[in-house]
Amino acid sequence: MPTTAELELSLRAAELRVTRPRLAVMGAVHDHPHADTESIIGAVRAELGEVSHQAVYDVLRVLTAAGLVRRIQPSGSVARYETELADNHHHLVCRTCGVIVDVPCAVGDVPCLTASADHGFTIDEAEVVYWGTCPACSTTTPPTSAP
Ligand SMILES: [Zn+2]
Ligand SMILES: [Zn+2]
Repeated sequence: MPTTAELELSLRAAELRVTRPRLAVMGAVHDHPHADTESIIGAVRAELGEVSHQAVYDVLRVLTAAGLVRRIQPSGSVARYETELADNHHHLVCRTCGVIVDVPCAVGDVPCLTASADHGFTIDEAEVVYWGTCPACSTTTPPTSAP
């Protein structure tokens, strides 16, 4: 857990004003990697008391735009947030329970996946979602009405 001073430094480095909601949201995202907005709102409220949904959404948008927070949204899932580590890691997503796990860069350094055709782009990042079934779900009886 980064200290408040470290969080303040990150905000200042991104040329953002330091506010309590911003600090609380950054702390919540750090403590609960891949949390959805509802969980983050819960954690922020536990720290600051009543904070509106809109305020938390606004902070998340600002922090994401500033590159302090990374937003991930596997298809079929709500948006999840994590501290931007700039390590270009990827995610494993369980189709059954929706758990999200970090996996390091697929092969060596970024962008770690070489596109078969770059169409003239200078590629600096690749983002991969590996879909499957987590160990916990693999060992339980599969749902009978799975799509
Ligand atoms: Zn699972
Ligand atoms: Zn992650």
